[in-house]
Amino acid sequence: MNLTPHTKPLSPGATLGVLGGGQLGRMFVHCAQTMGYKTAVLDPDPQSPAGLVSHFHLVNDFTDQDALAKLAQLCDAVTTEFENVPAQALDKLSKLIVVNPSGLAVSIAQDRIREKQHFINCNVPVAPHVFINSEEDLRTVGVPHLPGILKTARLGYDGKGQIRVRNLEEVSDAWLKLKGYSGSPMPCVLEKLLPLELECSIILGRKSNGQIVHLPPQRNIHRDGILALTQVHDGCLSSSLSLKIIEYAKSIANELDYVGVLCIEFFVLNNGNDSQDPFSLVVNEIAPRPHNSGHYSVEACDVSQFELQVRCLTDMPLISPRQHSPALMLNLLGDLWAQVDQINDSQDQSLSWREPDWQAILNIKGAHLNLYGKASPRLSRKMGHITFTGDSVTELYHNLAQATRILGIAPFDKP
Ligand code: ADP
Ligand code: MG
Repeated sequence: MNLTPHTKPLSPGATLGVLGGGQLGRMFVHCAQTMGYKTAVLDPDPQSPAGLVSHFHLVNDFTDQDALAKLAQLCDAVTTEFENVPAQALDKLSKLIVVNPSGLAVSIAQDRIREKQHFINCNVPVAPHVFINSEEDLRTVGVPHLPGILKTARLGYDGKGQIRVRNLEEVSDAWLKLKGYSGSPMPCVLEKLLPLELECSIILGRKSNGQIVHLPPQRNIHRDGILALTQVHDGCLSSSLSLKIIEYAKSIANELDYVGVLCIEFFVLNNGNDSQDPFSLVVNEIAPRPHNSGHYSVEACDVSQFELQVRCLTDMPLISPRQHSPALMLNLLGDLWAQVDQINDSQDQSLSWREPDWQAILNIKGAHLNLYGKASPRLSRKMGHITFTGDSVTELYHNLAQATRILGIAPFDKP
């Protein structure tokens, strides 16, 4: 809940702040600046992608009280792009200026245990699970949870902080391993490993008056626990599934009294031919910010997820985004920069880095290259993405196949 409600909408010329300087912050900053706002970024990394393009960049930690006070002085309103920002930082700022989303909403999204409890309160189905806070809780693990995935309650992302387990012994080992990372008891959730038919997500914007608008639900393909491709076109998701996604998403946002942009990730399960309802929907997790799966909206919709973030933050009118082109979004991980070289005639290999062939990519019709300006590539690091737009779905997949061939990415199938 916002402690400081807007008295009136913030017009262009005002300064908007963002906690976190990653690629989501960078795209927020670009969008806010296009709309005539000034921007300020708080991020300790002097080379942060958003800090590099912002009017102001406070190179400080998120817990630095002086930096938070300075940010409040500089800005008329502040949002976040970074899930693990301390909720106390948002709470502190909200006593001084407009802040959304709230510290409360962010703190729930940061903790898989509170998050699951929230979904259950909203009557939205979740995977069978058990919370593991202590050694004793391991005894509550049973057949309904196995095989499963043990996930740390906090600080997991891109498949990190998760271990797949087949039996009780593996759960105990995994618990010790995850605990080992932090050195102290690590609350976890053990989730049943579900047979996924597909994964999808939706991005919505909600204002303090309760108004909600959303992007069309999108279908996501993950590889190694990391989003690889987002598909948003006819034939991706049935209309009955889309309606259910929208209904659940609204209920999750309303119950949180959420203000800002929210992404909700879902799993779709195949119930088999015997069931009356062939597919069921299970909520996975939420992200209290724009999301990788919504990047396509920049080129394929008339209101992007970042424009929704600006409009929510400034309390400007929310209008329903319209998708004007079918879209695909291909993530570009640091692996594409890596080149494995054989050392002389030996078995040894060395890793060097080189730029992918951007000239060939930019030769593809309807391919929109987005690079985040990160100082150096690393394996699994999100370095950029390509959005494909075009007249037809067939054309999109033709162009995607061309790009994956150039980049050396395994091909994707059309749904
Ligand atoms: P992260 O915070 O890393 O995105 P997720 O919980 O979304 O964590 O898990 C990452 C991916 O792992 C999911 O997108 C999905 O592909 C797979 N996954 C997670 N939980 C389950 C589950 N219960 N059953 C099957 N696959 C899962
Ligand atoms: Mg996820």
